[in-house]
Amino acid sequence: MENRKKSSSNPLFLVVTAPSGAGKSTLIRMLREEFPDFVYSVSCTTRAPRGGEQDGVAYHFIGEAEFRERVARGEFLEHAVVHGNLYGTLKAAVEGPLAEGRRVVMDIDVAGAAQVRGRVAELPPESPARRGFLDVFIDVPSLEELRRRLETRGEDAPETIERRLRNAEGERARRGEFAAVIVNDDLQEAYGRLKALVTGS
Ligand code: ADP
Ligand code: 5GP
Repeated sequence: MENRKKSSSNPLFLVVTAPSGAGKSTLIRMLREEFPDFVYSVSCTTRAPRGGEQDGVAYHFIGEAEFRERVARGEFLEHAVVHGNLYGTLKAAVEGPLAEGRRVVMDIDVAGAAQVRGRVAELPPESPARRGFLDVFIDVPSLEELRRRLETRGEDAPETIERRLRNAEGERARRGEFAAVIVNDDLQEAYGRLKALVTGS
């Protein structure tokens, strides 16, 4: 069995994407609980923290002016407007840990994941980010189920849920671009598939 753990000769840069509400945060949380050596790439965002979110843990919460300055300084691997707020992946959050031989996991929207793939393809073939790149699309069994999950999660206003559902149709149409697609119907089964991808079993 392939062992990717903490080996600089066998890096892993895991990019997990999904329509909002499909379960990517849940699956990433399960993965990090089982494999605490994973470094989570903490993004910057201009959205306000939700209850309980600490700065520097879920996100670096920054203002729009600072975000734009950091874009101009070239600090982001990619950045995008998602649901009306700015989000960006810091190069340092990915490249530093990979250079140290750590495994990196990222939670990102579908357009952002495609941008990351494009940027990584421009890196030298021997770079850890390129050699270890694995992008996974988490899908839902249906849009009805996605609505149910967004409603049950209870974090979004009704109009936000409608917007996320509209976005989901376009996002799901792009799933063929990804190295792997996992349909998150039964959670344990979906997690088993993610784990198998990561451990190479
Ligand atoms: P995302 O990070 O993709 O936006 P979340 O991980 O926040 O999605 O999941 C959205 C909601 O759906 C949460 O309330 C979560 O507990 C629930 N959920 C996740 N996976 C499943 C599943 N397989 N079956 C039912 N509910 C799920
Ligand atoms: P939330 O605000 O609910 O945490 O995240 C909203 C969306 O932004 C999710 O789809 C999440 O994956 C995405 N996202 C989080 N960080 C980044 C990032 O750095 N870049 C991009 N493009 N999207 C991100």
